[in-house]
Amino acid sequence: MLDATSPLGTETVDLDDALGRVLAQDVAAAGDVPPFPCSAMDGYAVLAGGAGRILRIVGESRAGTPSGHELIEGEAIRISTGAAIPPGATAVIPQENVDVNGDGAIHTNAVSAPGEHIRGAGEDMRADTVVLSAGTVLGPVALGAAAAAGVGSVIASRQPRVSVLCTGDELRAPGEPLGPGEIHNSNAPMLTGLAQRGGAVTVPAQRLPDDRDATTEGIRTAVAQSDVVIISGGVSVGPHDHVKPALDALGVNEVFWSVALQPGKPTWFGVPASGRPLVFGLPGNPVSAVVTFSLFVAPALAALQGGPSAGPPRATAILGVDVARNPRRDQMIRVRLCDAGDGDGVRAYPNRGQGSHILTSLLGADALALIPAGEGELPAGTTVELHALAS
Ligand code: AMP
Ligand code: MG
Repeated sequence: MLDATSPLGTETVDLDDALGRVLAQDVAAAGDVPPFPCSAMDGYAVLAGGAGRILRIVGESRAGTPSGHELIEGEAIRISTGAAIPPGATAVIPQENVDVNGDGAIHTNAVSAPGEHIRGAGEDMRADTVVLSAGTVLGPVALGAAAAAGVGSVIASRQPRVSVLCTGDELRAPGEPLGPGEIHNSNAPMLTGLAQRGGAVTVPAQRLPDDRDATTEGIRTAVAQSDVVIISGGVSVGPHDHVKPALDALGVNEVFWSVALQPGKPTWFGVPASGRPLVFGLPGNPVSAVVTFSLFVAPALAALQGGPSAGPPRATAILGVDVARNPRRDQMIRVRLCDAGDGDGVRAYPNRGQGSHILTSLLGADALALIPAGEGELPAGTTVELHALAS
């Protein structure tokens, strides 16, 4: 699937709009941070020296308003945290280590070692060094680091345009009253939200009836305007499953259909000859849709944006209870993780019922745990791989 995925282009994005965007170019510090030596304390800039000195206060250096006075022995300059160290000063003596005399002088009650309470220029970032590397997903702290580095805009990957299509005659919009045999469309808000969290710009989700022509037309429109199309339901082989023949008619070539996975067996992936959009057919059961989004769509969205690929899983946990295996398919169970603090490591417990219709098993789940296909039970105490659950 990732072989069929090439990164989208790039664009310049103001820092104010860059939350969640993926950096396409490294961000280097425009200058030293801090830009100048400054005080770590409220106190007095002095020449390093012993206790018991009487120093005349000759000025003030405030944050944003430096003092230009060249300090000599016998003098002190009042200074605030973050204010520039005046020329000549070699230490800061904190306010609590001096007595202020009424006649505009201080008495030092402590030794001041050279450099004490002075933050050096560039201690946080050196000019021209890379602070954030390409592929970083810009969170609030990364935005703060970019701002501190003197950067007002970044080169980010273009956001994938994602269309979500939900097939099913039985689906009603959230909040609508249900007729006989009808259910609410829970995949629409879930898949839309997951795509947005994955960095996408989404068009409002469409519902498609279980009808060949309507399915084909709905998918045709989405294909024309999207980088990624996510279709839920209708991808199996029932008499009312029209997604595969519709994709075939539209020239979206199947890369794979059906994976040895529970939940998620009927997952479909394909691309047209042009290479775009990536088209995913996800099973309609809400849990299956979220699990397959996590395993297939989320990595593809990251790859389109040149972001970090999930790579082989590194996290593991110890199964807290016996889990029945599926003889033919790997299972991805929704687990809660907890560390009992007994030194035995993190334990994984199935989160509620594991049926693919039990949407509430996703609420409060921390991760997916891989239960490899096999006979019998995977016993408690077995180390299992953890995979990221998109949320
Ligand atoms: P399908 O993959 O179309 O065979 O659907 C499998 C199951 O998922 C059926 O019980 C559907 O009613 C249900 N389902 C399909 N689409 C949705 C959806 N958008 N929201 C909630 N449930 C759905
Ligand atoms: Mg259906």
